[in-house]
Amino acid sequence: MLRFFGRRSAFNEEQNSAFFVEDERLVLLDCAMFAFHAVRKTGLEGFGDKINEIVIVVTHTHGDHISGIPMMIHYAKYVLCIPVTVIVPTEEMRTDMRFACERLDGCDPDAYTMLTADEAISVYKWLKAAILTEHTPQLAGRCFGYNLSVDGRNVVYTGDTNTLEPFLPYLEKGSVLYTETSYNDSGVHLHVKKLMEYAELFKEREIEVYLMHMDDERAVLEQVKGRGFAPAPLFSE
Ligand SMILES: [Zn+2]
Ligand SMILES: [Zn+2]
Repeated sequence: MLRFFGRRSAFNEEQNSAFFVEDERLVLLDCAMFAFHAVRKTGLEGFGDKINEIVIVVTHTHGDHISGIPMMIHYAKYVLCIPVTVIVPTEEMRTDMRFACERLDGCDPDAYTMLTADEAISVYKWLKAAILTEHTPQLAGRCFGYNLSVDGRNVVYTGDTNTLEPFLPYLEKGSVLYTETSYNDSGVHLHVKKLMEYAELFKEREIEVYLMHMDDERAVLEQVKGRGFAPAPLFSE
């Protein structure tokens, strides 16, 4: 299942970053600079299998989600000597990310491949769907979560979102949900009280719920006490 280098929101050091290993690939869900350093310090051997590719799945282009991607591409080419594949939800976001990686950061185009989710679904069996959601008005139409299959389980990963509605059709019985949640009601993140409105539905569908991207972890966990929600599992624990 997914493990997390960090499970905190943007204005924290240990920014949200999850990963899993499949078919000798290290798959990162977003890659903040914090996640780049976590991978660098761990070393590929620290992820168990012999890793021969890094795949980065992008949810949206806020800095706490993409700031480590160009650095990872450089590092994978010059130090690790393995290829990177970046998966972006749409063609428009491929243009944006290419600009960030090549024009701004000077990544070697031969060091990585950038696929849209539609293209990647036929390559990677664990990728089922990119799911459009709502987060900030400035990034309207460019914020996504994902439906994945990890260790034989149906996984829904929200990315940053202020609603769970787009994800409900993907939450089949027995799924694992990794959802962002926030203590402060900013309107751009999923307020913990809004999350708790789904507690009955989660119970009916036997959904395992893990909380991530928390602004105030202690306060969030205090709010959800007794609901059966767990904080996203940290790699370091
Ligand atoms: Zn974020
Ligand atoms: Zn965001």
